[in-house]
Amino acid sequence: MRVVVCGAGFGGLELTTRLSAAFGDEVEVVLLDQADRFVFGFSKLDVMFGRTGPADVHHPYADLRKPGLRFVQTTIRAIDPEGRGVMTDAGWFDGDVLVLALGADVDPAATPGLVEGGHEFYTVEGAFGLRDVLSDFEGGRVVIGVTSVPYKCPPAPSETALLLHDFLLARGCRDRSEISLVMPLPAPIPPSPEASAALLEAFAERNIAWHPSQLIRELDPIKNVAYFADGTEMAYDLFLGVPSHRVPAVVAESGMTVDGWIPVDALTLETSYPGVFAVGDVTSVGTPKAGVFSERQGGVAADRIISLLRGAPAAAEYDGYGLCYLEFGNDEVARVEVTFRSGQQPAGTYDAPSELLASEKAAFGTTRAQRWFDREWTAVPE
Ligand SMILES: Cc1cc2nc3c(=O)[nH]c(=O)nc-3n(C[C@H](O)[C@H](O)[C@H](O)COP(=O)(O)OP(=O)(O)OC[C@H]3O[C@@H](n4cnc5c(N)ncnc54)[C@H](O)[C@@H]3O)c2cc1C
Repeated sequence: MRVVVCGAGFGGLELTTRLSAAFGDEVEVVLLDQADRFVFGFSKLDVMFGRTGPADVHHPYADLRKPGLRFVQTTIRAIDPEGRGVMTDAGWFDGDVLVLALGADVDPAATPGLVEGGHEFYTVEGAFGLRDVLSDFEGGRVVIGVTSVPYKCPPAPSETALLLHDFLLARGCRDRSEISLVMPLPAPIPPSPEASAALLEAFAERNIAWHPSQLIRELDPIKNVAYFADGTEMAYDLFLGVPSHRVPAVVAESGMTVDGWIPVDALTLETSYPGVFAVGDVTSVGTPKAGVFSERQGGVAADRIISLLRGAPAAAEYDGYGLCYLEFGNDEVARVEVTFRSGQQPAGTYDAPSELLASEKAAFGTTRAQRWFDREWTAVPE
């Protein structure tokens, strides 16, 4: 029996780890990804703000050595959901089960002027490149702006504003800088009013200007002006953008998407094609696009695939739960737990920022590095 898993991010790594633990060599698990290494989303901010070095946050897929698991670095060029297979640069792969965990791609060019006049911090290249840009920045007007919805990790722009405040303060140029945050949401974290209130208070204390319910439509790279969707203009010296998101082109071309994303059964994560599952950011399952949700979906899909291959009734169901750590600056981290269930208002709990929660967030990364890559790793070295 063979399971082919496309995409080695949070979803694909959790899923293949569970399959290997359950079956060992009995089932062949093929994991395909175009990249040669994994980088946690939060590590992008750590590198960008100089808290750690680029080389310290790579998790090479060559280190994946789990029974039954074979990693192949290759680009997927076509998906055949009926044949449960994919065409790649390394040939054709098909299986008894096919899993699509290909995430969301970003498209900076979709926002006029962003490539020429701004910087995006959502790709590894973009965030790592900003490390040098920020270390050369002598102060000025900084705009952090979201260009479209949905976007990954909805708290990330708020975290970026707070970390930028600390960064500029430490470099002695906060007093000659302005920070503006432009976001499409009406509150920083809508499912958690407490977290939103704490963030708004933190913005006010730090003189970070908050512009809710707004998107950036385009930048004028000559005049250095950002235009909001409602026509408002804002001049900037440094623009840090969240680019437009979409499924990878190969997914769009597969014909599996509806309204831009792959629809799945919200409880089982099955697509409408027998034996084909989809997990994480590539889906429209109804949770925010974030690693913690992708990972939990990967776990549920793994449990269902284990039952399927054993010929047992499948019991595991996805519950929409996620636990999110929020960088508040001052080396403190807050925690939000939230559950998204179809037809219900998402409900969340909030724990105020502390150094203890910063350690808990570091442990979150450490445990994943151990579980997925069997390696010791510290997210931000002491
Ligand atoms: C700045 C930033 C901070 C973040 N912070 C957090 C955080 O603190 N907590 C959190 O939970 N989430 C965070 N996120 C979001 C998180 O990184 C993503 O939501 C998560 O990675 C999604 O997991 P996934 O498995 O669905 O997809 P991904 O992790 O994106 O994995 C998809 C994989 O598919 C591969 N792929 C795509 N197309 C092809 C192709 N054609 N052929 C071969 N391979 C392909 C990609 O190379 C990739 O490895 C953050 C994101 C950013 C940008």
